[in-house]
Amino acid sequence: MDKGKLYIVATPIGNLSDFTFRAKEILENVDLVACEDTRHSGILLSHYKIDTPKLSFHSHSGQAKVDKIMAYLDEGKDVALISDAGTPGISDPGYVLIQAALEAGVDIIPIPGPSAVITALCASGLPTDKYLYLGFLPVKKGRQTIFKKIAASEHTVVFYESPHRLRKTLGQLGEHVAADARVVVAKELTKIYENYYRGTLPEVLTAIPEKPKGEYVVMIHN
Ligand code: SAM
Repeated sequence: MDKGKLYIVATPIGNLSDFTFRAKEILENVDLVACEDTRHSGILLSHYKIDTPKLSFHSHSGQAKVDKIMAYLDEGKDVALISDAGTPGISDPGYVLIQAALEAGVDIIPIPGPSAVITALCASGLPTDKYLYLGFLPVKKGRQTIFKKIAASEHTVVFYESPHRLRKTLGQLGEHVAADARVVVAKELTKIYENYYRGTLPEVLTAIPEKPKGEYVVMIHN
């Protein structure tokens, strides 16, 4: 029997209308949707009246969950992997499953769509012909090393940051990069409170609230 296919399906990063026709068609037609959080993805799926069975698959799922999904694929069933938002595999769970599927000879089919990194970059006004994507910065060890790497980069650097670490990270970055480095912080992309803060680090820090809320992408060009 032929193995099933594994679809890596991008979903909206906030605005539910940013969902492609193809993504909808695939999620309707596969046998199983592996979701990071079934309740969270349930909002999108019920909005589009997609009633395909769901299974949770997140960063702490472990080998047993990978084996379970692999068993579906072995039986010839098609599986779609989605994450809470954006493109699975981009600072989101997916790698272990994709690796296992590749080793088992399963076809992996990407269904492109939103990703916060590309959405943020395209309207940043910073050079985007080459960029260095760092995902989430380390929280404890390795921060100084990564700040030095950012300060030395000749390309635009882009990374994700949580709201409660945003001001601290920007403050620490200021100790490494030149005073005239161009910084852009994109907030809540595609959502009601979408905003871009642009300027030097001190200017951006002045504009960002003392207690930031929401989701952020940080970009910097030396
Ligand atoms: N896989 C996702 C993608 O393709 O964008 C990224 C997932 S990562 C776990 C989540 C982080 O992405 C958030 O903490 C935030 O830094 C960034 N992010 C996701 N959605 C965002 C949005 N609407 N606006 C700004 N940043 C966002």
